[in-house]
Amino acid sequence: MGENDEVFFLKNFTENREWKIENRFTTLSFCVLFSIFHSLFSFFCYNRFVTKKYKENTMEKIKIGWFSFSCCEDSTIMMTELMNEHWQDWKKMFDFRHARVLKTNNIMDEFDVAFVEGAIAGPDQEEKVKEIRSKAKKLVAVGACAIVGLPAGQRNTFTEAQLAEVQFLIDRFGALPKVLKVSDVVKVDAEVPGCPMNTDAFLKAVDVLVKELRPQT
Ligand code: SF4
Repeated sequence: MGENDEVFFLKNFTENREWKIENRFTTLSFCVLFSIFHSLFSFFCYNRFVTKKYKENTMEKIKIGWFSFSCCEDSTIMMTELMNEHWQDWKKMFDFRHARVLKTNNIMDEFDVAFVEGAIAGPDQEEKVKEIRSKAKKLVAVGACAIVGLPAGQRNTFTEAQLAEVQFLIDRFGALPKVLKVSDVVKVDAEVPGCPMNTDAFLKAVDVLVKELRPQT
C-alpha cells in the first residue's frame, strides 16, 4: 500500500466512523424521544381512563337507599325484577349505599334518594325513618302501605272487640297504638302508588329524580 492509498484509507475510515457515530446518535435521540412520547401518551391515556372510571364509580353516581318497614316487601321484589332490564344503566348511574336485598354490607351515611316501602308500626321504625330522612335529600314513599298505611295497617280499622283480641301482640312487640303512613312521621317528596308499586310510575319517578339531581346526565 502506497502513501496515497494509506491516506485515502485513513480518510475513508475516519469519515465512515464519524458517519456511524452520527447515525447512532440520531437513532439514540429518536429512541429517547419516542420513549418520552410513549410514556407521556400512556400516562395521558391511563389518567383519562382512571379519571373516567373514578367518576363513573363514585363521584357522579346518585346515592340510593332502599328501606322496608312493616310490609310484605313486594315492591322490593318488583324493583329487583326491573334490574333484569335496567341494571346496565343503573349501575352506571346509581350507587346503592343501602339495599338489603342487594348486598350485606350496607352503609347508612347519606343518600340522594331514599326509597321507603311499608308502614310505620313501632317506635323503633319511627326513629329509623326519621334517621333516614335526616340523611336523604329526597325521600320517596313506595307502595300503598308507605303512602296510606294500608293494607299493612289493617288493625287501624279494627272494631274494639277485634282490637282487644290482638292487644297482647301489640303489647308484646311494643307497637304503636296506630299504624302510621310514612308522611305521618317525616316529609315525603314523591310517591310511587300501587300494591305492589306500579313499575311504570316507579321508572317515571326515577327519571324525574335523575333529571333533577344530575341535570347533565
Ligand atoms: S303496598 Fe302492598 S305490596 Fe307493598 S308492602 Fe304493602 S301490601 Fe305489600
